[in-house]
This record gives sequence, structure tokens and C-alpha cells, in this order.
Amino acid sequence: MRLLPFILLVFALKLNSQVDRIEPPNWWIGMENPNLEIMLYGKDIGYLKPETKAKGVKIREFSCPENKNYLFIELNFSSGCQPGPVPINLMKGEEIATTINYPLKSRMLDSQKRLGYNSSDVIYLITPDRFANGDPKNDNVDGMLEVSNRKSKDGRHGGDIEGIRQHLDYIEELGVTSIWINPLLENNMPAYSYHGYAITDFYKVDPRMGNNEAFKKLCDDAHTWGLKVIIDGILNHCGSMHWWMKDPPTRDWINYYDQPYVETNHRKTLEQDPYAAPEDLEILEKGWFVKTMPDLNVTNPKLATYLVQNTIWWMEYSGADGIRMDTYLYPEQNFSTAWSKAIMAEYPNINITGEVWHEQPSILSYWQKGKENTNKYKSHLPSLFDFPLQAALNKSLTTDNSWGQGWIYLYETLALDFEYPNPNNLVVFADNHDMSRIYAQLGESAAKVKLAMAYILTIRGIPEIYYGTEVLMSSPRSRDDGKARGDLPGGWNGDLINAFTGKGLSAEQKAMQQYLIKILKWRKGASAVQSGKTLHYVPEKGIYVYFRYNDEQKIMVVLNKNEEAQKLDPNRFKKTIDISTKGIEIISGKSISLDGPFQVPAMSAMIIECK
Ligand code: CA
Repeated sequence: MRLLPFILLVFALKLNSQVDRIEPPNWWIGMENPNLEIMLYGKDIGYLKPETKAKGVKIREFSCPENKNYLFIELNFSSGCQPGPVPINLMKGEEIATTINYPLKSRMLDSQKRLGYNSSDVIYLITPDRFANGDPKNDNVDGMLEVSNRKSKDGRHGGDIEGIRQHLDYIEELGVTSIWINPLLENNMPAYSYHGYAITDFYKVDPRMGNNEAFKKLCDDAHTWGLKVIIDGILNHCGSMHWWMKDPPTRDWINYYDQPYVETNHRKTLEQDPYAAPEDLEILEKGWFVKTMPDLNVTNPKLATYLVQNTIWWMEYSGADGIRMDTYLYPEQNFSTAWSKAIMAEYPNINITGEVWHEQPSILSYWQKGKENTNKYKSHLPSLFDFPLQAALNKSLTTDNSWGQGWIYLYETLALDFEYPNPNNLVVFADNHDMSRIYAQLGESAAKVKLAMAYILTIRGIPEIYYGTEVLMSSPRSRDDGKARGDLPGGWNGDLINAFTGKGLSAEQKAMQQYLIKILKWRKGASAVQSGKTLHYVPEKGIYVYFRYNDEQKIMVVLNKNEEAQKLDPNRFKKTIDISTKGIEIISGKSISLDGPFQVPAMSAMIIECK
């Protein structure tokens, strides 16, 4: 008698055994695009024919690629369709070989209306393996190829989603308003997987980071703290251990699949270069990023749709507020803009920041929405990382004050803002996870880090601060990712120094934390900094002065990179900007008389709110 349920279970498993994967794993009713492509994977599944009688659900078409282990079903949802499982029979001739019950949910209330991040926000960038180990039990998980090794700079250190969740209070207290988290999806690679950019399953959070539900909970909890969440997306490549690699749908799914290795040339001028050799452009777009990251062929329409839907799935599932898109110019450019357009159609008020790592605004601006390009390329990407300004900031603070040096780098780079359709929607930063830490770049001078932070927090754009800057985390001066992405002190049990509680921090570290808190909290109410106009004056004698202003507020920023205090005469600026006779310097809280020359302390910033 007890055998019967067991036999039924085995029978049911046998019937369903043909479908090993269904992606996306579910969908929602009420999306802007009423169509959905489902990818089914299973032995010989491509020979089956899908049918459904579900109300409001139509199979527009189905197809089996050259690999018979895949079946693509193109669905259309109309107004009559209801949330719940959609039964789809997979027919072998007249017989039902198996039935899948595809989960269809109602779209979250106001999902489409969600607001993204903008220049009223400040982003805190987190490398999750290195921020805090909230759950030591998930440091090693059966089936995962790489085990944790905190002793190795390139190993997995055990940081996770729970670690971030437990410290949302700290992040909020710092005064930032958004978190951008480096990729959390499964990276089941044999080595060097902690960074997260070699995805082996596009629909699954890496179990060493937590799970899908934990990520959703993190987004929910962040929202209750008033923090926005920015997902780190990757469209250009997957990890070489991705399950596609053993059995891809088509031979062209992966560029240079089963062919001699071709690496991308990383030449970011190619899309715009009037003299570019077509074969060079092809290598940029189709060459692999590195050997462990095979290049996805986004010109395959099935894969293109898969990737668009994957981003939408994570946005809809998690309730996140925006996207940082990795290696934005590496995939074929018509795909990139189609992707941006499709995401923005579902979430018209969010923001997406693309990574185009180039130091020329003319190269960068090509990719921003609204740019009139000579070759007629029309981008739908709203935001970019301001790499030109990042490079200029570094040079400004590491060169002397002679002609053409020092602040002139920042002054002349900002002057090129005429290239951008929307400079205020660029993300400004001093460092990120792909370079040496700002403290190291600036020769471990806390005073210079403060100058850099004062600049990014008051100039136009959306500031981003890399985690650990607030406690002056350092790295080698030349790029060494494993070391630059160090463990935040206090994130691991037994840490003697603790950034969260302040325990063991040096006076200089504590001062840096307080410095950031001061400016960040003030910035939350500084409308002139968030969205005001900018007016800057030619830097003189190591001092750079600029104003951020609107009808309500006038902010005067004075950056002094001299080793000595300097006198500054505000009368130079009064011809154009009506600054009153008095101001409050918001870092020190001191009153400043603007009637005549005032003292600017050595190697420091003054942020003066004119009264
Ligand atoms: Ca852990």
C-alpha cells in the first residue's frame, strides 16, 4: 500500500524529466511588452510541439534551433489572461509527452512607476564578497567548484547578501542613498570567481551570496531604510562554466565557439572611428573579454531577447531601482541600444548607467541618450560613468600647480560637458572596483581624499563612493584588483578593527567617516548641488573655485591644494554671481565673511553656503 504513492511519484518524474530548465522561470501579466520568449531545455525536447488552451495566452510561434535539446516558445498575453499556472502541453504527435505549468504572476503594484536614482542620490558601491560575512555557513556550498580562502587576495572571502542586509543601518547613517552591488549571480567557476562577472546561471543568485529570496529581501529592507538598490548587469559575456558551453542552442550562440581563442582588442574608439577597419570592430565586439568569459552573440535574436528578458525579470522580481551595465560598448551596438530601450519601456523613470571606460568625453557622450551622432547612432542609455572626470581628478591631485597642471585637468575636462546631452546624469567618482583605491592613488593623503570627496559630492552628476573609502582603505598604487577589493574591517567575526562600530579605527579614519557623513547629510537638502547650475573660474595658484546655484541656494566651493593656507578674495566672483556678505562653511559649521579676503586652510575644501 505504501508503494503506490512512490510509484506515482516516479511516474510523474519520468514524464517531466524531459524538461530540465525553463527560462525565465516565471513571468508577469501587465508588462508593457505583451510577448514573452520561453527557453526550454531538455533531452530531445525540440521535437515536441507546444499547445495551450489557457485563456488569453497565445503561442505566437515555436521553434527548435539546430540543437534538438532546446525549444523556444513565443507567447503573447492578452487582456483575458489570468495570474496562475499556464498549462502548456508538449505534444509528441497526438500524445501529450509532458505538461509544464508556467507560472504567471500579477505585476507588482506601481512597478512601472518606480523611480530610479538621480543626481539627488549618492551611490555606495559594494563588492559583496568583501563587505561583510553575514552568514559564515554559506562560505562553502556543496557543488560549488571554488571553496573559500580568505588568505588569498583573489579567493572568495565569504561576504554575502546577508552581510549587506545586516549593515543597512550603517550605510544609511553614512548618508548615501543608494547601493550598487557588484554581480550576485552564480559564478560556479573553478577559480577567481569572487568578483561575480563570470555568470554561470543568469537566473540564480550564487548560493555563497545567499539566494534569490535573500536578494529580494535585501531590496525590500533597503527600501525601508530609504536606500535604493542598483543591480550590476552583464550582457557581453557569461562564465566559461555556464551550462550553455557544453550544449549551446546554436553554434553561433557564443562568438568564436569551438574556434581558436580570440580576445577582444578593448579599443573603445572603434564604433565611432571614421577610419576603423571592419575586422577590428568585429574583434572588439566578438572577441572574448578574457578566456574565462566567452562572448555572447547578441546578434542572435533569440539570445538578444533572452538577455532583455533576463534584466526585466530581475527588476520585476526584486523591485530594484536601477541598473549599472557592465562593458556597455562591447556587445554589438544596435543590441545595446535596443536593450536600453526595452528596459526603459518597462520602467520609464529608472536610471541605467553604462560602463564605457574611456577618458575622452567625445567617445563617452556618443552613448548617452539624446546625443546627435555623426553616424546617426541613436542611444537609449540615460547615464554613463564619468571616467574622463575620474582621470582628471586623479591628475589634478597628483600634479603640481604649474601652468596646465593641477586643477586645470578638472577645469578643462568639465569644460567639455558641451559634448553630453545630460551631464547631470553622469556618475562621478574617484575610484571603483576596477582600479587602485583613491587613498592609494593620492599617495595615502587623507587630506587629498577629502578634497576628492568634496569635489565629487558638489560637482554636477551622481556621486559614487567605493565602500571603505570612508575608513581610508588602501591598495597598491598600481592596479591589483584582489587587494583593492579588500575586506571592510569589521565585516568578519574576530576583526580587531571595525568600521561599523568604530572600534580600533585610527583618528584619521574616524575623521574621514565624519567628514563624509557631514557632507552627505547636508547634500540631501542641497538642491543647488543636486540639480543647480554650475559656474567655475579659472584655477589660480592652486585654488579652484566654482559655484552651484539655483533660485533658492548659492553654494561656493573652494578647493585649495596648496601645502599652505591661502587668502582668497571673493570680489573676483561678485561681478557675475550675487554672493551676499556672509556664508556658512558647512564642513566646519563656521561663519565666513564674504566682504573681503578670507583664509582658506591648507590642502582642504570649503563648501560655503552663501546666506
Ligand atoms: Ca558567507
